[in-house]
Amino acid sequence: MPDFKDLIGQLRKHYGEPALPPATGPFELVIWENACYLLPDKRRAEVFESLRRQVGMNAAAIWKADRNTLLALATRGGMRPETRVFRWLEIARITLEQFGGDLDRILAGTYQDAKRALKQFPCIGDPGAEKILMLCGMGTGLPLESNGLRVLTRVGYGRAQKSYGAIYRSVQEAIRNELPSDPATLGHAHLLLRQHGKTLCKTNGPECGVCPVVRVCAFGPRMNTDKHR
Ligand code: SF4
Repeated sequence: MPDFKDLIGQLRKHYGEPALPPATGPFELVIWENACYLLPDKRRAEVFESLRRQVGMNAAAIWKADRNTLLALATRGGMRPETRVFRWLEIARITLEQFGGDLDRILAGTYQDAKRALKQFPCIGDPGAEKILMLCGMGTGLPLESNGLRVLTRVGYGRAQKSYGAIYRSVQEAIRNELPSDPATLGHAHLLLRQHGKTLCKTNGPECGVCPVVRVCAFGPRMNTDKHR
């Protein structure tokens, strides 16, 4: 199993400092998660910033926005734009009804209460809520999305399991004692692992020959051997 700090250091050297999302605070980050469906981050940023510019990035503005304007913006975000408009309005409604229009309030409570509050919003499950709280400077763990989880599993963390949830838990257990403590470093680690999983360590055909962490990876050298058999 590689040293976690060394692994992230190698990824940083290769990819550079990762770009943080243009969203700040829990409300913007929930909207960011719901801005697009299966499209690259560049398009996500375009939809997000257009929503900020044309409508306003707060619950009251989105709730009273012209529905056709929302639909036109949501159409840039990929398939099923009507569903996306419905979700944006749900995010606005919940924020207005339960948090007086200010979702930052959840950051003043406990971590568990904040996580529970975020999970009420569309498309936000446990890892999503944990990621948002990490990006808001709250929490000490490293939430992983599927790309980051794949990278850590391949390099040697966790155990092969039948379900995604079981793999996730085994990887979390394996990295727990190696994690940095400050949220900014955790956020960068999350983004670097995601970037690596999306570019070189892809689900099919990982490019181990040009991978910056092949020397510490349990899976990469085996891939190369299998290829040359
Ligand atoms: S060596 Fe291959 S499997 Fe290992 S992290 Fe790199 S790309 Fe992924």
